[in-house]
Amino acid sequence: MFKEEVASHYGGKCSCCGETTIEFLLFHHSRLDGAEHRRKMVLEKVLRDEWESYFKLLGWTREAFEDYAEKKAGLFPERIDIWLWAKENDYPQDIGLILLCANCHTCVHSKYIICPHQRKKSEATNTPQTNPLLA
Ligand SMILES: [Zn+2]
Ligand SMILES: [Zn+2]
Repeated sequence: MFKEEVASHYGGKCSCCGETTIEFLLFHHSRLDGAEHRRKMVLEKVLRDEWESYFKLLGWTREAFEDYAEKKAGLFPERIDIWLWAKENDYPQDIGLILLCANCHTCVHSKYIICPHQRKKSEATNTPQTNPLLA
């Protein structure tokens, strides 16, 4: 299956709690640059898909088209499926993408930043709390 295949390139499980149920897994930008990454993905897509087939035919200059593409990427940064993107880009490993389950993902994107799983681990082992979910 498509999502399992993509997930297998990123460890196949939640980086926090080990959850493997594919329906629960989401990508997390461990460098917290998700918004910027989504903007770049949209920009790449617009530049790739809309020039030859559309704007060039309408007679736009390349410069005006690139300006439009930048603005569109800024306005609609959420319109990219990151699972498809990962596959199309040969599963990039160097950009801080990790898998988290929905529970752990919610926590790292909240004011708690550190998932309770990690807090409990540090309490149980009496070791200082670290946050393995941030790059
Ligand atoms: Zn988890
Ligand atoms: Zn967790």
